[in-house]
Amino acid sequence: MHAVVFRRHGGARVLESASVPVPELGPDEALVEVKACAVNHLDLWTREGMPGVTIPLPHILGCDVAGVVRRLGTPISPLGAWTSVVVAPGIACGHCPYCLAGRESLCDRFQIVGLQVDGGYAECVKVPIRNLIPISTERWDYTQWAAVPLVFLTAWHMLMTRGQLAPGETVLIHAAGSGIGSAAVQIAKWRRATVITTVGSQAKVAKAQALGADHAINYQTHDFAKEALRLTGGRGVDLVFEHIGPATWAGSLRALAKGGRLVTCGATSGREVSMDLRCFFVKELSVAGCYMGSRQELEHVLRLVEAGTLKPVVDAVFPLSDAAQAHARMESRQQFGKLVLVP
Ligand SMILES: [Zn+2]
Repeated sequence: MHAVVFRRHGGARVLESASVPVPELGPDEALVEVKACAVNHLDLWTREGMPGVTIPLPHILGCDVAGVVRRLGTPISPLGAWTSVVVAPGIACGHCPYCLAGRESLCDRFQIVGLQVDGGYAECVKVPIRNLIPISTERWDYTQWAAVPLVFLTAWHMLMTRGQLAPGETVLIHAAGSGIGSAAVQIAKWRRATVITTVGSQAKVAKAQALGADHAINYQTHDFAKEALRLTGGRGVDLVFEHIGPATWAGSLRALAKGGRLVTCGATSGREVSMDLRCFFVKELSVAGCYMGSRQELEHVLRLVEAGTLKPVVDAVFPLSDAAQAHARMESRQQFGKLVLVP
């Protein structure tokens, strides 16, 4: 089958088209024909290599798959061949204390499709049967469905579970143009919060507002923390949705109201930050780390997408063989929404 693989870590150039064997199935596994696979920042980090994470080489990226079931290792599932599905991106043991508490991403054996195991930059992908979630393709097509799982799940986990966002609160969401930012703006509006977001160009201001943002700040021309304080009458925001890191960290803390919370899931501008501890404890701020989310949260957010309450935001669709171009577009931060590959 056709796949895009990399044989060594590096820039987008290490991605190459290749012919690879169709994966063999174990009893609890399914073969899914990939109709669409979204690109995530995680793919860029995996391609570049992360300290402490062993990635088998050659490797196939891609954790956000929409497609159809081709075959099951054992026909134990009610899902027959040709059922349309999205693949839950997290693989967990299912029986440790964290899994039983519904916190699968904390499982010692937790893996992400396309990170520790081969993913969806291919004609077919092998996943555990329990990771298949049936979908209807009436409202959204496969490219739109592929744009959903990872970012909507993570944004939901951050805002609702870890951030405890309440109706009437104000939230600052970084980068409405990123996949996760475009999901977060919609979830926060569904929660009836006031949304202040940031964008990197004037052209993206209107797009962020069309998604529902009450205020969109161009961070290239304005100090976002100062603007967030101005827009809240000097009080500050209740919650900050962070996924950028050192480039925004200090401003994110400055933008918080007394008693405010910050949730973070990413470090696109670097891994280390510093903070003024006095300000942190005097204002009684809280910081919560977030790593994906649970299967239950994913099912919940998918139903809201299926109902049309939340909408996939697709920036562009690329043929799989142009995966390197899609990575370059993400690295240049030109996109608004998700980049999706189709085999
Ligand atoms: Zn477990």
